[in-house]
Amino acid sequence: MTLDFIKHNARIIRLTSIFIVALIVFIAPQFLDRYWTFFFGALGITIILATSLNLAIGYTGLVSIVHSGLYGVGAYTVAILVKEFGWSPWIALSMGVIAAAFVGAIISLTTVRVSHLYFAIVTLAFNAIIVEVIRESRDLTGGQIGIFSIPRPALGAEKLDDRAMYYLIWLGVLFSLWSLHNLVDNSRYGRSFRALKSNEPAAIALGINPLGYKMLSFSLSAGMAGFAGVLFAYLNQFISPQLVGLEFGLELFVAVLLGGSGTLLGPILGVVFLASVREFIKDYAQYQQLLFGSVLIATMFLIPKGIWGELKAFYVKQTSKFNPDDINPTISDPADYLDPATIRSLLELDNNQHQIETGKPILEAQGVVKSFGGLQALRGVDLAVNAGTIHGLIGPNGSGKSTLINCLTSSMERNEGSIVYANQNTPRYAYRVAKSGMVRVFQIPHLFGDMTVKENILTGFHGRGNVDPISYIMGLPYARREEAEMQRIADRLLEVAGLQDKAEMQANLLPHGQQRLLEVLRALTVSPSLLILDEPATGLVTREVQALGHLLEKLRDSGITILLIEHNMAFVMSVCDRVTVLEEGEKIAEGTPTEVQHNQRVIAAYLGESVKGIDIEKTMQEAVERYA
Ligand code: ADP
Ligand code: MG
Repeated sequence: MTLDFIKHNARIIRLTSIFIVALIVFIAPQFLDRYWTFFFGALGITIILATSLNLAIGYTGLVSIVHSGLYGVGAYTVAILVKEFGWSPWIALSMGVIAAAFVGAIISLTTVRVSHLYFAIVTLAFNAIIVEVIRESRDLTGGQIGIFSIPRPALGAEKLDDRAMYYLIWLGVLFSLWSLHNLVDNSRYGRSFRALKSNEPAAIALGINPLGYKMLSFSLSAGMAGFAGVLFAYLNQFISPQLVGLEFGLELFVAVLLGGSGTLLGPILGVVFLASVREFIKDYAQYQQLLFGSVLIATMFLIPKGIWGELKAFYVKQTSKFNPDDINPTISDPADYLDPATIRSLLELDNNQHQIETGKPILEAQGVVKSFGGLQALRGVDLAVNAGTIHGLIGPNGSGKSTLINCLTSSMERNEGSIVYANQNTPRYAYRVAKSGMVRVFQIPHLFGDMTVKENILTGFHGRGNVDPISYIMGLPYARREEAEMQRIADRLLEVAGLQDKAEMQANLLPHGQQRLLEVLRALTVSPSLLILDEPATGLVTREVQALGHLLEKLRDSGITILLIEHNMAFVMSVCDRVTVLEEGEKIAEGTPTEVQHNQRVIAAYLGESVKGIDIEKTMQEAVERYA
C-alpha cells in the first residue's frame, strides 16, 4: 500500500524531500554554535569524498583505497599554492581538483589492466607513496608537522568565516550529487562505467573500451576527491599527513559500503551514521577502529547492498508492476511491423563504414588454431561468411563453435591463423572488433542485470554523439539534447520489439525469452554489419524460436549479415542460407542446409550424439515440415 503510494508519487516525494533537506541545511547555521557549524561543514566534506569514492567503487567497480590520498593531493596542492606561492585561493581551488584528477589518471593508467583484487592492492600502495612523498617533501609540506594558517578564499574584501565556509561546502555537496546523477543516470559515459561494472565482457562486446572508460571514471572520481580535500584545507586551515592516512581511507570505505555503493544516497547515510557513532563514542576513541571494522564485516554478511541499496532492492521488487509470474513470457513476432527501411534508419546502418557487397565474403578466417593446454579446441578451421546471408555454424557440444567465435572477435587470442573482416585484419582488442561492426552475443546470458531494460539498450549507443563528459556532468543543454535523442531512439527500438512496457524494469527480472531478445537488440544498437549469435534459441519455446527466426530474416534483409551458432537443428536448417559443420575442432562439411543434411560425416557426427537424445534424421524431418 504505502509502497504503491511512494511509487505513484515518486517525483513529488523526491522533490519535497530535497526541498526539506535543503531548507534544513540552509537554516541550520542560525541555530548552531561554532563547534557544530564546523562539525557539519566537515561532515559535508566527507560526503563529497564518499560520493567520489562511490563513483569509482559503486558505479565503475574500481575498488580504490587511495581516495584519502587523492583527498590529500587536493588539500596539499591548495595549501602549498596559497601559502608558499601566494596564489588566489579561488584559482588554487581549481588547481587542487586538476592535480588530484591528474594523479588519479596516472594511477588508473598503471592499474586498470589488473584484476579487481590487484587494483585494490595497487591503490593501497599508491596511498602509501602519497603519504611518504608528503612526509618527505618537508620544504613544501612541512613534513610531519603539516601546514598551518592556510588562508581562506575571500568574497569581496571579506575572508570567508566558518559560516560562509559551511555554505560553500554544502553548495559543493549539492553540486557533487547533482553532477554524479547527471553522469551516471543520464549520460552515455556513466552508463558505460556501470556496464563495465555489471558485466565487463558484455560491455567490451558492445565496443566499450574498458581502459579508456575506467581511466575516465577514476580521473573524474579523483578530481572530486581533490575538491573535497581543497574544501577541507580551507575549512580547517591546517593539514597534516594524518589526513591522508589509511585509517581515514578505510573509514570512507566502510561508509560507502554500509550506506550502499552504487546509489546516490547510500554513501550519505553511511557517512552520517559513522559520524554519529564517532560522536557517541568520543570518550572511547581507542575502540573506534575495532567498531568500524566490525561494522564492515557485519555489513558484508547481513546487508551486502548496504542500507539504501537493500531498501531500494526491496522497493523495486515489491513495486515492480511486472510480477514475473504474470508476464506473458513470449516475445512478439517482429515479422508484422518491422521493415528494412525502419531497421536501417533506427540502427544507423548507413553510417557503417564496413559495407560489403552482398554475396562477397565479409569474414574470412583461415587455419585458425586454438589450444587450451594439451587440448586442441580448433585445429586449423577455415570459415568464409558472405555478406547478406545467414550463415549457420553447427556441430556437437564441445566441437569448438564458441571457441571459434571467441577467436573471431578477439575475445581470445588464437594460436595460429588469419582472420580478415571487411577486407582488413581483425583488430587485436575485442572492443575494437565490435566497433568495426562485428558484434557478438554470448552463449550464456550477459545482460547488465542490475540496469533497466532501456539502459541495456542505451548502453550500445555509447559511441554515438560527440558531447564530452564534462558537459554531461554540468548538465549543459546540448548534452541533455543528445541524451534525449538517444532515449527517443531507444524507446522506438523497444516499441518495435514489443518491450516498451518493460522499459523501466530491471533487466534480470525479465523472463528468459525476453532476456535473449533484449540481448540481440542490444547488440544491434552498435550498428553491426556482422552479427554473431551463439546459440540464441537455447531455452526458448517454439513460438519464440519462430519469432527469432523471423527477426533474423528481417535483419538479413536490412543488410546485416548473421553468423548463427545453434544446437537446434530444425531452426538452423530453416533459416540459414549456408551451413558450416564443426566436429572436434575441424570443419567436416559446408554447404546449403540440404547438402549438409545429407552429408554422411555430419549424420555420423550427430548420430554419435543420439545417446544424448538427438535423433538427427527425425529432427531434420521435423524442421522441414515445421518451416515449410
Ligand atoms: P562448443 O561451443 O562447440 O560447444 P566450445 O568452443 O565451448 O564448444 O569448446 C570446445 C572445447 O574447448 C571443449 O572441449 C571445451 O571444453 C574446451 N574449452 C573451451 N573453452 C575453454 C577454456 N576457456 N579453457 C579450457 N578449455 C576450454
Ligand atoms: Mg558453445
